[in-house]
Parts: sequence; C-alpha cells; structure tokens
Amino acid sequence: MRRKLAAGNWKMNGLAASLKELAALAQAITADDQTGILICPPAPLLYRASEAAKGTGISIGAQDCHGDADGAYTGDISAAMIADTGATHVIVGHSERREAHHEDDAEVRGKARAAHACDLTAIICIGETEAEREAGNTLDILAGQLAGSCPDNATAANTVIAYEPIWAIGTGRVPTLEQIVEVHDHLRAKLIARFGDEGHAMRLLYGGSVKPDNAATIFKADNVDGALVGGASLKATDFAPIITALQ
Ligand code: PGA
Repeated sequence: MRRKLAAGNWKMNGLAASLKELAALAQAITADDQTGILICPPAPLLYRASEAAKGTGISIGAQDCHGDADGAYTGDISAAMIADTGATHVIVGHSERREAHHEDDAEVRGKARAAHACDLTAIICIGETEAEREAGNTLDILAGQLAGSCPDNATAANTVIAYEPIWAIGTGRVPTLEQIVEVHDHLRAKLIARFGDEGHAMRLLYGGSVKPDNAATIFKADNVDGALVGGASLKATDFAPIITALQ
C-alpha cells in the first residue's frame, strides 16, 4: 500500500508569524502512519519551519532548488542548502516555475537529480494547459513531461509525481473525477512501464484548486495518493479537513 501525502505549497506567501499555522495544523489533525503531511513555505522560512515542525509529524519542503551543487547563481538555492535547514522535500517543475522562469523538462530533471543527491524527496510537477486539453493532447503531453522530468534514479522513496492541470491552479476549476482517474491511471501505467515495482509504489498527487469541499471526491480515485494544495494550505482551518479527507 502506498503511503499517502498531503502537501501544502505556500508559494510566495507567509512571514514568520505564519508559522503559527503549523502548530494549529498539528492541533487540528490526528497524525497517522499512513499519511504524510508536508508544508512547503517560502525559502526564508525553511529553517524556522523545520524547527517549529519538530515533534508534530509535519515535514517541511522547499518550493524549488537549483540543479547544480554550488556556483555563481545569484539568488538561487541549492539542494544541500535546503537539506541543511532540516527540510526533507523539494517541489521541482511547478508550472509557475516552468512558465515564469522558462524551466523545461531537462532542467526539472536536473533539479530532481540534485535533490536526490542530497537525500531530499523531489515532488516533480507536470500538467497540461487548457489549450492542450482542448486539443485532445493531454495524455501525450503528460507522458512526455513525465518521461523528460523524471530522472532514471527515481524511486518510490525519493520521488513523488504531482499532476497539476495548469488551468485548475488557483482558478477554482477542477477536472471531473473521470478526467482525474484517466490521467492518474495513465501516469501509473507509464511509471510501471519505466520503473517496474518502484513505479507501482511511487506516489501520484493531484493538484489544482483542491479545497475542503472537493477533496473527498478527488481522493476516491485509486491512483490519487494525495494532493498538492496551494491556496487551501495557508490556513490550518482549510488544510486540516483536506488531510482528514485523505486519511
Ligand atoms: P491551488 O494551487 O491549490 O491554489 O490551485 C495548487 C498548486 O499550484 O500547487
């Protein structure tokens, strides 16, 4: 059985005062062994968040890392720096990075590899645009992104895949359960074809406008092992019911 994962992506939101949400979240949920809980705050909060999360069962992750171990990259953050804060995960290839920072599959793959080299779990994001879905290309686009963004050394322990349709992120629009099932079953088949048993055991998250009132429906899909949640992860009062729906 795959261990589920509820991951919160705070994006560029949150100051030190926001860390009170970690304690509130720990209070509001009943942690269990079958469900991992992850918060990905902005980089300046990683160390404090890791300290604040100690003993709560909540893991901490970053939202991006550089693909190189070190060097002259002003403003960038290496995987080793992230691990040094106490964080254990890093999101790579989020569509907002792919769009605003022109990251392609090869770059995302390099970031995942850099994360693995520092014993971080990489959450690799893929997703189609609305135009690609309307053109009927969704499954091919996703298969290409998955193949190109996932390094050969990916295992169930070091890699999580997040399917995030770009048109569903921050819009309040969510695919139908049938559309989610179709994509996640397709991705599962691709992972098994490439990685065998590891592909079977790798977690597949859905992301894009997951809210307390739609989470239970989304989690009905067999190959949905959790969620990557943006807006609804900022407040414990929103994120806790999503976690409970997953459990
Ligand atoms: P959202 O963001 O839940 O606010 O739609 C999801 C994401 O981008 O990870």
